Amino acid sequence: MTSVPARAALKKYFGYDDFRPLQQAIIEHVYAGKDGIVLMPTGGGKSMCFQIPAVTMTGTAVVVSPLISLMKDQVDGLRAVGVRAAFLNSTQRGSESHEVEQAYENGELHLLYVSPEKLLSSGFFTFLRRRRVCLFAIDEAHCISAWGHDFRPEYTRLRQLKQAFPNVPVLALTATADRLTRRDMAEQLGIADAQQFIASFNRPNLRLEVRPGQKRREQIVRFLRDRPQQAGIIYCLSRKQTEQLSEKLREAGYRSEAYHAGLTADRRAKVQSDFIRDKTLIVCATIAFGMGIDKSNVRWVIHYTMPKNLENYYQEIGRAGRDGTDADTLLFYSYNDYLTLKDMISGSGNAEIQLAKLDRMKEYAESLACRRRILLNYFSEDHGEDCGNCDVCANPPERFDGTVLAQKALSAVARLRESTGIGLTIDILRGSGRKDVLANGYDQIKTYGAGRDMSTYDWSQYFGQLISLGYLYVAHEDFNKLRLAPAARRVLFEGETVELVKFQTIRDRKQAEESQ
Ligand code: ADP
Ligand code: ZN
Repeated sequence: MTSVPARAALKKYFGYDDFRPLQQAIIEHVYAGKDGIVLMPTGGGKSMCFQIPAVTMTGTAVVVSPLISLMKDQVDGLRAVGVRAAFLNSTQRGSESHEVEQAYENGELHLLYVSPEKLLSSGFFTFLRRRRVCLFAIDEAHCISAWGHDFRPEYTRLRQLKQAFPNVPVLALTATADRLTRRDMAEQLGIADAQQFIASFNRPNLRLEVRPGQKRREQIVRFLRDRPQQAGIIYCLSRKQTEQLSEKLREAGYRSEAYHAGLTADRRAKVQSDFIRDKTLIVCATIAFGMGIDKSNVRWVIHYTMPKNLENYYQEIGRAGRDGTDADTLLFYSYNDYLTLKDMISGSGNAEIQLAKLDRMKEYAESLACRRRILLNYFSEDHGEDCGNCDVCANPPERFDGTVLAQKALSAVARLRESTGIGLTIDILRGSGRKDVLANGYDQIKTYGAGRDMSTYDWSQYFGQLISLGYLYVAHEDFNKLRLAPAARRVLFEGETVELVKFQTIRDRKQAEESQ
């Protein structure tokens, strides 16, 4: 059985006794010569899925990665444990890359890391054909999709790969792909029918908390006082913010450093290595920080300002608690931050998609339903129960039986054949006499006017809850129309009851916060 050499290699090179869930299945899939899509959270152990085939199969595994700055570290790390790895990218001198090419041609390499530019440069496929490639691993594969949050145009040409090497298995790996990104990613790579391996994104040891963004520095200092000697990261929106905050924390006696793309490479490397060695306890950083950082004892992550989307948020909080023991995450949220981000995004490419994603982030921050459920639903995972380890679960708002309300909303969406967005659906529920409502005959459907008793504002809040709870989702690819999730069937046809949070309590809570 092929798993024997795989397991032996896991022990020999990496010192581990057992594979994590899915790793073994993915490796055997590669041995069978099949393509695959791997979705695992950061730190989930994706690399092993191509490293083990690389050291056990005949030929070289070619790993495509956009993170050029990390290649050297990755390769050094592998060499240190006896894996024959090398990399090729634009930062190398000619003599260096020549040596690597020679090693490949001599069949000496288990693994060859390349940047997408290098892979697609002229003559490179011909070069690869001089020897045998056993696997193409596309790391950070979400970068190929314009739906993703990290689109890289140079990645789109990777579709040539499957055409040029139809018999070499392709493994697309990512930590951050929502439903749409995942579909698009597979299509673009020409492996739409490939098996998908989706690991759970649940990280139950991460405590989730959102607080109103007032007096943030004071709140942070209080937060730190309760956590002496614990390492953590504070994510900020701007370079200036990282520096100012770090300065304040130093004044308050903390070993803190700022980290952002505007620092020299040497400086960044120093901050990073001091943090890994526990010389620096706190890093105030922009999103540039953390990519590929393997530090297991980060005890907390704070977001000084809200990230642009839930993918980034999830990836950033995921840097805490990798050792599996409890870790805290804290997000500061204010409506003003939302507006600032909205402005920033509006000027950028594919703004429409990014704005829809920002709205999901805002819904998360404003939500009064279990935050982990929202997060996991976003990644298409429905656990069907509250987590018990977020601020909402710890301090539950008043709930009521919202089954009838949910039935009205869901059946309106069903009767409208999932063809309307939230705003219009609410207008129809409220029996609006708007011209386009009447012109389209929406006043003829059975739920027209069934929700007259509630304001538009209340309805939109409850629709938000139904989305968060996984009964509905928004089809961003189709004019943000509302769609029924599988759970909606259970409410409409199988008598499932729905518990909702009383909207009144939301107002009370907001007022309480404001008067603080
Ligand atoms: P990812 O690429 O998904 O972010 P990595 O491949 O870097 O994750 O793995 C994260 C950490 O988990 C690494 O320290 C790695 O050595 C460790 N790891 C991976 N697979 C196993 C395993 N089967 N048993 C124990 N540790 C593992
Ligand atoms: Zn919860």
